[in-house]
Amino acid sequence: MYAEIISVGTELTTGQTVDTNSAWLSRELAAVGVDVTGHCTVADDQDRLGQAILRAAGQADVVLISGGIGPTDDDVTRAALADALEKPLELRSVFVEQIEAFFAKRGRTMPAANRVQAMFPVGSQAIENTCGTAPGIRARLNDADIFVMPGVPSEMRVMFRRDVLPQLAAAADGRVLLMRCIWCYGAGESDIAERLGELMARDRNPLVGTTAQETVIGVRIFARGDSAGQAGERMEDTADEIRLRLGKLVFGQDDETLAHAVAALLIRNHVTIATAESCTGGLLAKSLTDIAGSSAYFRQGYVTYANDAKMQLLDVPEATLQQHGAVSAQTAEAMAVACRKKSGCDYALSITGIAGPSGGSPEKPI
Ligand code: AMP
Ligand code: MG
Repeated sequence: MYAEIISVGTELTTGQTVDTNSAWLSRELAAVGVDVTGHCTVADDQDRLGQAILRAAGQADVVLISGGIGPTDDDVTRAALADALEKPLELRSVFVEQIEAFFAKRGRTMPAANRVQAMFPVGSQAIENTCGTAPGIRARLNDADIFVMPGVPSEMRVMFRRDVLPQLAAAADGRVLLMRCIWCYGAGESDIAERLGELMARDRNPLVGTTAQETVIGVRIFARGDSAGQAGERMEDTADEIRLRLGKLVFGQDDETLAHAVAALLIRNHVTIATAESCTGGLLAKSLTDIAGSSAYFRQGYVTYANDAKMQLLDVPEATLQQHGAVSAQTAEAMAVACRKKSGCDYALSITGIAGPSGGSPEKPI
């Protein structure tokens, strides 16, 4: 089963709001084995949205749309869907009453503008909205099922889980798609791809792919199966094979960061650590203390940004700073040595450098 996701709103196409609905929906769909073949973001523009709906319905079994069903003039999803269906909009009085009741419960009368939320393309069905005024819409276009949901992420999520997901899960008939990411450090993406070899064949199940993220490489695994058990077994087999081939390059999976891996090593070896930071301004200490149970290994950290602070708090000799500069191996070593002595920790880590965006030079780049 293939799905296309359409997010509607000029606040999204102008970059003022980040489209989180599509990412969230994609993860939910994967869990029931639905393949998302594309995301599309459209401004509040009736014609373009109508075209986007037609295109998506021609390519997928399911089209999920969020946004543009509010009561104002810039909410054009209802009309665009009616255009795509080539059906007129009709007013359904039962929903006018429901929306009136929603306002009455809050001691208000329904503004006239909200009547539009009771309009539906002829032949479509309403989806109940348990947290807001706008009902969702379900319609059939060509061979695709179209679901329209509110844009407000919290409302969209409730409607999706309550009404849309059960229908999709029933159609998927137990099939699932499991995802996992194995994190590596210490080799480049092409090196890792070479070691994985035929595991990365594009027609394989589980499908394996790599993504570079700053200093680490993620090896993503997508395992399909007719049941959760079958997909799970396939996932474990492929994950074991990947770990075997990548050996010590692997430091964690899914939510585990490099800091988690360092923390686990420190705890396992019953050792402690302190930090002395210049340009990172405490980032390293923050990363090490963001992990639950960090008091077992972390004692203290110094943020010595100015030269004065390096001398006062970490006894960095003035001569070292003058001769080699604050950004030098010599200064970093002096910071670390003093940090370890003062803290009484087993290890001390120091950082000095030029954070940028300006201040770099050919000898001392950012
Ligand atoms: P709408 O239903 O189009 O009136 O959207 C209501 C509000 O929900 C917008 O002002 C956005 O802040 C938010 N919103 C709409 N679509 C999205 C989306 N795809 N991702 C995140 N937030 C959204
Ligand atoms: Mg909108």
